[in-house]
Amino acid sequence: MPDRPLDSSPYPIVDDFLIRRHQERAKIDQVLDKWLKNPPKTNRTVRRLGEKLNAMGPMAIDILLQHLDSGVEAHTSMAITLLMNLPPNEDTDQVLRQHLERSDLSDDARNILGSVLDARLYGEDLDDIQNRFITDPVQTLGSLFNSYEREFVVANWREIRPLMKPEMLSHAIGVFLKNRLLAAIPIFRYEAWHADASLARLLARDLPALEDPEIHTILSILTAHPDLEARNDAMQALQNLPPLSPSEALPGSTVRSRGLLDYANGMIAIEHVRRIGDDFRGLMAMIDVLDQGLREIIFFEGEQKTLWEDSLEDHGDQPWILKTDLDDNAAAYLVRQAVHLTEERGYAIPDDYWDCEHLLPYPYTKPDSIEVPRFGWDCAMCRKPIKTGPRRKMPYLIQNIAICPRCARRKQKCVVCGQRVAILGAMFFTDDSQNLQFICGECEPAWLRDEDE
Ligand SMILES: [Zn+2]
Ligand SMILES: [Zn+2]
Repeated sequence: MPDRPLDSSPYPIVDDFLIRRHQERAKIDQVLDKWLKNPPKTNRTVRRLGEKLNAMGPMAIDILLQHLDSGVEAHTSMAITLLMNLPPNEDTDQVLRQHLERSDLSDDARNILGSVLDARLYGEDLDDIQNRFITDPVQTLGSLFNSYEREFVVANWREIRPLMKPEMLSHAIGVFLKNRLLAAIPIFRYEAWHADASLARLLARDLPALEDPEIHTILSILTAHPDLEARNDAMQALQNLPPLSPSEALPGSTVRSRGLLDYANGMIAIEHVRRIGDDFRGLMAMIDVLDQGLREIIFFEGEQKTLWEDSLEDHGDQPWILKTDLDDNAAAYLVRQAVHLTEERGYAIPDDYWDCEHLLPYPYTKPDSIEVPRFGWDCAMCRKPIKTGPRRKMPYLIQNIAICPRCARRKQKCVVCGQRVAILGAMFFTDDSQNLQFICGECEPAWLRDEDE
């Protein structure tokens, strides 16, 4: 109804009252509408709004009650918050109690109001009331995770995470942490690798409240976070936790863990299988130590012995390839160092890695059990990083040096006779300034003889 000038009514006294009342309602409506649609960010503001609401009188509370069953959860939630933040005194409670008696109140609103009154009287937590009446989508998501397998939880999270705004993301993580949702542990772990500074700090602070051995690992991962405060918090939290037994540090037991180490071509294949409960969980990783790091990783359930046999058939039968069992630490070292290289060289980490990363121990150390390869090679001549890929020629590898295909094509001067010779087949050595020097086939015998003397 549009506002009319007061003197336009033929019944000035009656209408004056009604119109004023109507205008007052409209004004309160507007104010409340603004509050409900833009929930305040701090507790102090919420308390101030509670006081304002109280000062606006019973009509304001009456209007607010209509929002308790608005069907819009965010509004219902804010209405509850406002009622809970009305000043704590008997007069206010008395007003609320009178509203409870109203016959025109919906059942939903009456339920909520009754609970709010109880909560105000017995000092119940606002969150408990909210949780009873509001189904936060994050809560629903959390309970869904309870019924998922671990790998599915991570895969699911990876899918929805990019759609979330930062505040939604930290809200979700906050709710999972607060509810001590063990089903979200794979998500906490994923976030330990990916979270920004504020989220990492939140994790470091609240994770220790969860009782699960994997919290140790997640905190360990956080001790390498780029944010100093998150690192320190995680370190502190780790020190306060009781130590883990080695059997708790990794899920299940190792069924087999082995590698094909082809250092002559800069390639490694790794198979690592664990038994967790009655299930087998495994990974098969293809690593390029020259450039791309973790090139491919396959996560699998069940025994899947054929994957390895295929790989042996493809690569394993060359005499220079070392077939060896790997301990858990060595497997972790090779795969995780490969991932570092992948990141460092700007390649994408294969998605499957995040589904099976938990099968490898963390932290890990440089192993003594195998000859450790160098990760990330530069061309010994042009000093540029060696690049590998499906459409690239393999670099020229010998002992501890690599020469990119471009440099390998160029002829080089023989240091003895000065003739230009092809690199392939020529003998070489590194001089005092670490530059490669070449000697042609004709000069080689004489040069070797001189060296011996
Ligand atoms: Zn080069
Ligand atoms: Zn020569």
